[in-house]
Amino acid sequence: MAERTLAIIKPDALKSRYAGKILQRIDEAGFTIRAMRLLNLSKKEAEGFYAVHRERPFFASLTTFMSSGPVIVMALEAPDAVKKWRTLMGATDPAKADAGTLRKEFGASIENNATHGSDAPETATFELGYFFTGMELAR
Ligand code: ATP
Ligand code: MG
Repeated sequence: MAERTLAIIKPDALKSRYAGKILQRIDEAGFTIRAMRLLNLSKKEAEGFYAVHRERPFFASLTTFMSSGPVIVMALEAPDAVKKWRTLMGATDPAKADAGTLRKEFGASIENNATHGSDAPETATFELGYFFTGMELAR
């Protein structure tokens, strides 16, 4: 059974005009894009998305960053999509990410790290539902 994950192209990557390159890598890796939208998150909407991180020291900075410009949110489908997408992204800190990963190639710092991916199938269910309606995810 194919699995789905929530992927985000973050504001830094859009500002640097890496969106097309990242979408190409998604296609080449064999993911099916099931839903996709460009959004300008408000600070409140970013805080709701990252609610699990609200006690972390970087929460304020992270949510300011994520509401600083447009993002592209996507439902990506593939066998083992959650792990597969996190492998393609690489480590959170681009400086520690493996060669050939998206964060190594397109990330600037541990915060401005180009992409997001759900960290578990249960998280993906919450995160997909945060941005997409049941109708958009029905096919
Ligand atoms: P993501 O959830 O975006 O896929 P992740 O699961 O690799 O990334 P998390 O620990 O969930 O990393 O952190 C969420 C996001 O918060 C990171 O992607 C990054 O943008 C930011 N972040 C994480 N650690 C730090 C830090 N030490 N300083 C600043 N920002 C951070
Ligand atoms: Mg995470």
